[in-house]
Amino acid sequence: MIIDCHGHYTTAPKELDIFRQAQIAALEDSTKAPSSEALAISDDQIRESLEGAQLKLQRERGTDLTIFSPKAAGMAHHIGTKETSEAWSRVSNGLIHRVCSLYPKNFVGVCQLPQSPGVSPANCVEELERCVTELGFVGCNLNPDPSDGYWQEPPLTDRFWYPIYEKMVELDVPAMVHVSCSCNPAFHFTGAHYINGDTTAFMQFVEGDLFKDFPTLRFVIPHGGGAVPYHWGRYRGLAQDMRKPHLNEHLMKNVFFDTCVYHQAGIDLLTRVIPVDNILFASEMVGAIRGIDPETDRSYDDTKHFIEAAPGLSDEDRYKIFEGNARRVYPRLEKHLAARSN
Ligand SMILES: [Zn+2]
Repeated sequence: MIIDCHGHYTTAPKELDIFRQAQIAALEDSTKAPSSEALAISDDQIRESLEGAQLKLQRERGTDLTIFSPKAAGMAHHIGTKETSEAWSRVSNGLIHRVCSLYPKNFVGVCQLPQSPGVSPANCVEELERCVTELGFVGCNLNPDPSDGYWQEPPLTDRFWYPIYEKMVELDVPAMVHVSCSCNPAFHFTGAHYINGDTTAFMQFVEGDLFKDFPTLRFVIPHGGGAVPYHWGRYRGLAQDMRKPHLNEHLMKNVFFDTCVYHQAGIDLLTRVIPVDNILFASEMVGAIRGIDPETDRSYDDTKHFIEAAPGLSDEDRYKIFEGNARRVYPRLEKHLAARSN
């Protein structure tokens, strides 16, 4: 089976955006505050938003299950207060839950967290617990930069983040380290901010000793790990100079990379450099890059055939990338997949 560990609801009905705009307007004028009941989206609208997009692509490409979360750029944690983020997360996650309930064979949920700049992520514990224990979600997206482009929070290895890690460990769910939009015009959001976020998170893990405190905590770094695989020698060398253990010991029991790399040479490098146990299949469709590559006549984000064509991978390696590693990193998938096969 083919599990895509990285998809966002980028095609949600426009009512979701209208709700968000009203929420933002209410920051200036509280009489404009929307109630979550105002989000009137029918099941048919949800079906329509997916049938011609994510579901069509799953069928065409032969993938089975997408680990699905709210639109990453839409999280926009810098907007408003923690209360703003709490209300927005509940609504966004509730919609993901409806998608997963309508299409339990195709989608399983990952939640947005109600982060807010300068606010302890302790405020995210309740929403994570609700999503996992009540809605059946299998993980969360953690934004290392809730300021959305200005990097004001301490590194991910700081005790600041420990309250959410403690809950992740207790629930046995991983986080995808995923930035949101960029308010900083110096950083294009998907072209620079995303890749910076991935690279920065990895280097923070190199510098710290987080997994001594949390030996079972797990992170997926998306977009192929940013610049990390390409510069693997640099990171091994930095760890060595800092007298850290070898990266395989220091991080690779806890840190995983996805395959959202949109060309064959990039996937070839990823699968050659990074241990196969640390690579999870993903496409991030429908997402960052929606066009067709004229060099291959395929969608850039059709990453499955890159894995199939990557040299040096055995059938066992491909099984790990497509399915086995996801089951290990997201253990709550087991229950979901067992129900799916009934
Ligand atoms: Zn993403």
